[in-house]
Formats: sequence, structure tokens, C-alpha cells
Amino acid sequence: SLNQSLAELNGGINVSFEFFPPATPEMEKLLWSSIRRLEPLKPKFVSVTYGANSGVRDRTHGVIERIQRETDLVAAPHLTLVDASDEELLGLAKTYWNSGIRNIVALRGDLPAGSPRPTRFAADLVRLLRSVADFDISVAAYPEVHPEAANAQADLINLKRKIDAGASRAITQFFFDVESYLRFRDRCVAAGIDVEIVPGILPVTNFVQLKRFAAMTNVSIPAWLHKQFEGLEDDAGTRQLVGANVAIDMVKVLSREGVKDFHFYTLNRAELTYAICHTLGVRPQSE
Ligand code: FAD
Repeated sequence: SLNQSLAELNGGINVSFEFFPPATPEMEKLLWSSIRRLEPLKPKFVSVTYGANSGVRDRTHGVIERIQRETDLVAAPHLTLVDASDEELLGLAKTYWNSGIRNIVALRGDLPAGSPRPTRFAADLVRLLRSVADFDISVAAYPEVHPEAANAQADLINLKRKIDAGASRAITQFFFDVESYLRFRDRCVAAGIDVEIVPGILPVTNFVQLKRFAAMTNVSIPAWLHKQFEGLEDDAGTRQLVGANVAIDMVKVLSREGVKDFHFYTLNRAELTYAICHTLGVRPQSE
């Protein structure tokens, strides 16, 4: 039975949690209560996203430093190359390594509107990081194809380049069409990509915001998902329950398909991620 197979997997599952730097003192409180709530689940690492301008960059570092200082968690900063020179990135990588950072999520970053065609890509950042030290590097993957890619095959070859440059795993863009993830994973294997393709799970509580974000990122929202959230525009409590149910259904199918690593886009909230982890058999571990 499904419950049995989930129980058998118990212990074999690795989770990681993604946070973003808070902009206000209230959001900072929320972030830290979420980190504390999720900490006993012993994630493989927790990552902190990285924005495009320097003010936001400092906020990422601040959160990473505090995680390192105050928790036993492995902190993984996201790093993008769009707004930094190679020299700056080399300096940053050295600083990170010297302060004990071993895990980095390496990204190109989104281009500001009206930018010329880029000449540097995430694979270049992976290479640069590996030239500094033996970082454990995660890169981004797109089951439904990155919006700027010439086509799905070109995007897949780009992922292969990032792995060949020294990345240890790929974390996917969020998705709701589990079949598209499974097909993508098969295509990765066929292309000789031999690292984990870790599904990025986005627990949904704000469907209106999700629709906007999905349109920007080329993520399809299946009709069944629209149906699930229909009529709940003013009912946050029920949306929370439905969102948990949707995500739990997804991870059950994924774990039945052999997925053992899950990355959660927590949006700095703990409740849904905690519940999903619980269902997967990821429970607090006593010392
Ligand atoms: P790349 O792998 O460089 O790919 C970008 C595009 O260029 C793709 O379409 C690819 O097919 C194409 N391409 C690659 N190489 C070439 C080439 N040589 N010639 C032509 N085309 C090429 N953004 C942030 O700003 N901060 C974050 O913290 C952040 N975290 C993220 C975490 C995850 C798990 C994911 C999935 C995304 C994240 N993003 C973040 C978003 C990401 O920066 C954007 O999706 C960005 O547009 C692409 O980044 P990438 O690393 O996938 O780029």
C-alpha cells in the first residue's frame, strides 16, 4: 500500500528548505519562527534567495550569517551572476568559503527589462565557483522549459553543461503537472545527466499571486488546480487546507516514483512544509 511504501522510505528522504530575505521586522520574525519550527526536521540544507540589487544582496548575507551563527543548519546562499563581474564573484566565493559556506545555489538571475542578450550563463558561475573551491553546488532546472530557452532540447543541454561544470544537483522550478516532471527526469537520464533532479515543491496558499508568478515563469497551472481554489478568494483558512492537500498528493506520487530528495519553496512559512514533510515520514529527530 502507499502508506507502507512511504514508511519504508522513511529515513531515506532528504529535504531542503528555501527562504527569502525579509524586508520588514515583522517578516523577519515570521522567517525566524519558521526556521525554528523546521530546524528539527534536519534538512540537508536551507537556502536563502538572492535579489538583483546590492541592498537585497546584503540581506541574503545577513540571513545566511545568522543561520550559521545561531543554528546547526547548513546554510546555502543563492548567488546570481547577472549583476556582478567575475572579479566580484570570485571575491564573494572566497569570502563565503572562508566563513565556512560549502553549499551554494548558483543561478544566472533574471535579467532587468530591456537588457541586451546575455553572454554569461549559470554554467559560467558554476565553473567560476569550482575554480575557487570544492563547493557543493545546486543549479536550476525547468521541467516545463525556461522561458528564454530556444527549445526544450537546448534547455536540457544547458542543464547538462551546468552539471558537467561541477554542479551536484538540480533543483526544479515549481510545477503542478507531475507528469511533466517525470518526463523531464527521464529526459535528463537519457541525456546523461546523472545527478538528482530535485523537485521544487511550492505549497500554495495564495492562488491569485501564484497565477501571476506562474505566467512569468512558464509554469502551467492545470485546470484541476484552478478548480481546487475556485471560490476561495476570501477564505484563507480553507485555501491553506486545500494547498496542503494538493502538495501532499503531489509528494505522494513523486515518492512512489522513487523521488527521495525534495526542495520546498517555503515562502518563509512553516505550516504547510512541516505537514508535507510529516506525511513523507520526515519527523523531528531527538539528539
Ligand atoms: P541559465 O542556466 O544560465 O539559463 C538561462 C537561459 O539561458 C535558459 O533559457 C537557457 O536555456 C539559456 N542558455 C544557457 N546557456 C546558453 C547559451 N550558451 N546560449 C544561449 N542560451 C543559453 N533568481 C534570482 O534572482 N535569485 C534567486 O535566488 C533565484 N533562485 C532560484 C532558485 C531556483 C531553484 C530556481 C529554479 C530559480 C531561481 N531563480 C532565482 C530564478 C533564475 O535566476 C531565473 O530563472 C533565470 O532566468 C535563469 O537562471 P538559470 O540559473 O536557470 O540560468
